[in-house]
Amino acid sequence: RQEQYQTYLNQPSMSADGVQVELVANIGSVKDAEQAAASGAEGIGLFRTEFLYMDAEELPSEEMQFDAYRKVAEAFGPETPIVIRTSDIGGDKELAYLNLPKEDNPFLGYRAIRICLDRADMFKTQLRAILRASAFGNLKVMFPMVATLGEWRQAKSILDEAKQELTEAGIALNRNIEAGIMIEIPAAAILADKFAKEVDFFSIGTNDLVQYTMAADRMNPKLGYLNDPLHPAVLQLIDRVIAAAHANGKWVGMCGEMAGQKHALPILLGLGLDEFSMSASAVLPARALLAKLSKQNMKAIAQAALELGSAEEVRAYIEEHVSEIH
Ligand code: PEP
Ligand code: MG
Repeated sequence: RQEQYQTYLNQPSMSADGVQVELVANIGSVKDAEQAAASGAEGIGLFRTEFLYMDAEELPSEEMQFDAYRKVAEAFGPETPIVIRTSDIGGDKELAYLNLPKEDNPFLGYRAIRICLDRADMFKTQLRAILRASAFGNLKVMFPMVATLGEWRQAKSILDEAKQELTEAGIALNRNIEAGIMIEIPAAAILADKFAKEVDFFSIGTNDLVQYTMAADRMNPKLGYLNDPLHPAVLQLIDRVIAAAHANGKWVGMCGEMAGQKHALPILLGLGLDEFSMSASAVLPARALLAKLSKQNMKAIAQAALELGSAEEVRAYIEEHVSEIH
């Protein structure tokens, strides 16, 4: 099946009416970056850096991280966008050497940016490594699990401190590196207009955004029917986030599983999403589908989907009105 998509390998990601978007990949290692480049991804929309922490016996050093981030940058050309997410550890991702307390509700717990702001030493080590690697490619830095403006501002100020330290030490970096946040907590989606004035970009993390919107553990197989990104409550949040970003001249991507799903793509195109980040193997099928869809027509489809009452209705509506998915 992959073979039928090979003609799309070196094509731009363009809708039938000539609107270009970016189709990029989610990766979790340096090896994945090479695989993504070979699979037609136009860059990296999410580098999950957790593996550097999970595979180690102690906190990974600045040098070791710098080496990994630089290699990812070098798997692509110097202009290619690479979004590096700071560590999303804690919660269910246990790290023995951090001595994190056991929690009853790990998904609602001490994790990701919450740990990083509390352990600024560890956080700054990662930011210094990312900044040093930014001299070798078009890196962008992204913070996960941001719920409040205060968290974003604190994270940004630690990033600025790291920039200052490196500059004073005469170390090369891109001082204008873009800094953005994941939108994966409903509070951040609802206040997206406030965040959009301060960040450089958003990336919508639907895996968590759906789990928190529906109050349904994303790992629990009994709750599969609730963990559906096509639910109109989720679609309305996505619409709100994209509109807020664009009203402030910022770009917005998506790095949850939804970005690579065929029923979702017509809606996301219609809502104006700029960047779609997915597993490398989904890139060419998505590019092939995109080439058949008119963005202008998908605007009306998306607006209709926002008005429906359930995920089932949205899925049926897309099945019926977007024949190109078949
Ligand atoms: C998400 O939450 O949608 C996401 C992309 O991040 P992760 O799956 O790593 O939590
Ligand atoms: Mg997430």
